[in-house]
Amino acid sequence: MKRIMKTAFVYLDQPYLEKPIRYRIPTHFNELIQVGSRVLVPFGKADKTYLGFIRSIEHSEQEETSLDEIIDVFDDGKSVFSPRMFELSEWISAYYINSPSESLGAMLPAALRIEPKETVRLKEFTLSSADESIVKTELRRKIVSELEKNRSLTIRQLEKKTGSKNLRRALSELERIGEIEIEKTHLQKGKPKTKSAYRITQTNSSTPTEVMMAEALKRFKRSKQKTAALEKLMSLEFTHYFPEQLNLKSALLRSLVKDGVLEEIKVELDRAFQEGFYESKKNFELSSIQREAVNRISNAIEKNEFRSILLHGVTGSGKTWVYIEAIRSALREGKSAIILVPEISLTPQTAARFRAEFGDLIRVLHSAMSDGEKYDAWENLRTGKASIALGPRSAIFAPLANLGLIIVDEEHEGSYKQDKPAPRYNGRDVALVRAKLEKAVCVLGSATPSIESFFNAEQSKYHYQELPTRADGAEMPELKLIWMPREKKLTPSISETLFNQIFERMKRNEQVILFQNRRGFVGSVSCYDCGHIHTCDACNVPLVYHRTQNQLQCHYCGAVKPMIRSCLRCKSENLLYKGSGTEKIETELASLFPSEKILRMDLDSTSKKGSHAKILSDFREGKSRLLLGTQMVAKGLDFPNVTLVGVLAADIGLALPDFRASERLYSLLTQVAGRAGRAEKRGEVYLQVFDLYNPVFKHFLENDYKSFYEAEKKLRSELRYPPFSRLVKVEFSGLVEQHVRTVAERFSYDLHAQNTDPRFEFLGPVPAVLEKLNNKFRYQLLIKQTDGARIQKESFKAVHRIYHERNPWKVSIAIDVDVQSMM
Ligand code: ADP
Ligand code: ZN
Ligand code: ZN
Repeated sequence: MKRIMKTAFVYLDQPYLEKPIRYRIPTHFNELIQVGSRVLVPFGKADKTYLGFIRSIEHSEQEETSLDEIIDVFDDGKSVFSPRMFELSEWISAYYINSPSESLGAMLPAALRIEPKETVRLKEFTLSSADESIVKTELRRKIVSELEKNRSLTIRQLEKKTGSKNLRRALSELERIGEIEIEKTHLQKGKPKTKSAYRITQTNSSTPTEVMMAEALKRFKRSKQKTAALEKLMSLEFTHYFPEQLNLKSALLRSLVKDGVLEEIKVELDRAFQEGFYESKKNFELSSIQREAVNRISNAIEKNEFRSILLHGVTGSGKTWVYIEAIRSALREGKSAIILVPEISLTPQTAARFRAEFGDLIRVLHSAMSDGEKYDAWENLRTGKASIALGPRSAIFAPLANLGLIIVDEEHEGSYKQDKPAPRYNGRDVALVRAKLEKAVCVLGSATPSIESFFNAEQSKYHYQELPTRADGAEMPELKLIWMPREKKLTPSISETLFNQIFERMKRNEQVILFQNRRGFVGSVSCYDCGHIHTCDACNVPLVYHRTQNQLQCHYCGAVKPMIRSCLRCKSENLLYKGSGTEKIETELASLFPSEKILRMDLDSTSKKGSHAKILSDFREGKSRLLLGTQMVAKGLDFPNVTLVGVLAADIGLALPDFRASERLYSLLTQVAGRAGRAEKRGEVYLQVFDLYNPVFKHFLENDYKSFYEAEKKLRSELRYPPFSRLVKVEFSGLVEQHVRTVAERFSYDLHAQNTDPRFEFLGPVPAVLEKLNNKFRYQLLIKQTDGARIQKESFKAVHRIYHERNPWKVSIAIDVDVQSMM
């Protein structure tokens, strides 16, 4: 009889391999290995072993003797990726131009990654270190003497103790001559947390527990202690008991185990993560328009079809409640759901709201979680103990089976894009692809959709659902501009008008939020008197001042202009380079309102764990009436007593050399404004501006997203920015500027030579906006790809390979598809 043999394709954890490699599955692993198992395989020279993921399993009638064998299986072959997740990772690798191992690595939380750990110890039966020729170097002598003191050390520990960074050579030499041995083990950071517990012995016989307990009671009639213990156990009726629940002496417990009444077991504990910010459940009827949106989503879920819906709802329109009801209908269908939010630490209120509704069915994936907590959350989602995952972009990889719904809240947010390391994916776009693969519904929600998404809805690629009014019946806040150049200022950042408004609210015992955009950029030049920003004619992004050469440069096309002495619009010589920070504003406020307690919320004031939640709680409880903050106060906050929002320097974001600057500012202002006025009290929003005539403010004042969209679309179409092109940025960085520039130029030249289609427009290479970061010089090449044309991965890879393999200068090259960060 012919033996059928199993083989498997395995993705190796090796960034330079593009394809899975075929291995033989030894028969003793036949039962364990499945698609998604993690294994150890040999590869390349000599004894090198690598971690790998089983992509697929095949049966073969031949003896595949030429194939290498899988060496080992981790975690009893537990599958960490479904076939769909492999498909998703393959899409990511192809689209974002990175290796499969990078995609797979990103899909697994660090807590579940298995990493090799090497320990070094002295061999027991060496001829001692008598052989002087072997340990003749100082370094080797040090290694041996450290190992004599400590039985075994990791390489990292040895490096510390010997104070030497490069032990590889010495170690392999010592290993070769049999002085030491190096053991390679694999460790996973997150592990299940277990605890000892006791339970009533589960006899295999047919004796029911009560009968067994009755018999035991008879047997122990004479022992008061044991009788009392048994009675306690029977009264509690748990599946298992922790010692502290029983409150019995451990000797007594042990003796009951000996008697065969109890058995000791290990129970897995759940390290649930709590952020310390709570919301209570709310009850109200959905409005008819909210219902309509929910029905649309639910119908699609019931049909088991892929569908994408753009939910365009003004701030306060009750999108969160649409999400909640949509999730309920997914659960009713026996399906699971993912909610993506831009950044949990910025949206604790949103996370808390979902927790209040779904309790133990939801797992919040938070970057502040410990490895153990992450491990538990991930396992609970994988095994179906929980069926809703909520988190930032990486939560899109939650290991949920039977996915029915993905929600991307604030879909326009740039933080859905991963800048580094590779894969440089956009969580929103991956969400659409995953939904398509899983036949699920993807809801993109926003008050100010990205131009790309609105365009897609216009092209009928997405279904469009609007929520045009606020759900709680409140009116939209009233918006007003304060033109700073003509305004009397009480302090450098606060105008008299804004001061008077704040003063009014304090008198009425209402609350105020003041917002300062942290996205300031120092390099650009604007006019203090008329607000005009000096931009590149060809690219419509601010020119950046370079002090050393005393000139201005465009960081998109590379154009160089002389530095200006006066404003090109109004001739004023009063030019402005900087915005002011929150700390400084806080002091100004304190001088204006000496008796007010001011809460400041920015990166510095919230770096301690829990401090963010504390500031919000204090504000909600009315312990302070003045909250000053950066982007953190813009998102998802819902405080009914806030009737005034002040934006201190509303045009700061416009000075960024980024073609999305207007879009970002428009959406930020909309969000900030949405914090003002809920139900009963109408809110007001005051913006202090310099650039009064900027169209962004005009659209904003008219509260008209669609007119803003139309204007922006026109600009983008003329200049061929997304959605009228796809942008790829290639970034070069290294220690020596000359080398970086040379590699950048040659790379661009080679890539261009292979891709001469006129639909590809090569811009640069030019120095990056932040031309020097962490001591590295940075250059960037920008490629506009229009009319559906795209440079293929193979082409990028071919050129990349040249400069990777022959790269004595160590210039790193990073490819960023659909780039968000232009800096
Ligand atoms: P969005 O996320 O669209 O800005 P939210 O979901 O935060 O809006 O809802 C805004 C406010 O309206 C919240 O205070 C919420 O409790 C309230 N709300 C939502 N839906 C309703 C409804 N149907 N009836 C009354 N209040 C509602
Ligand atoms: Zn001017
Ligand atoms: Zn330019």
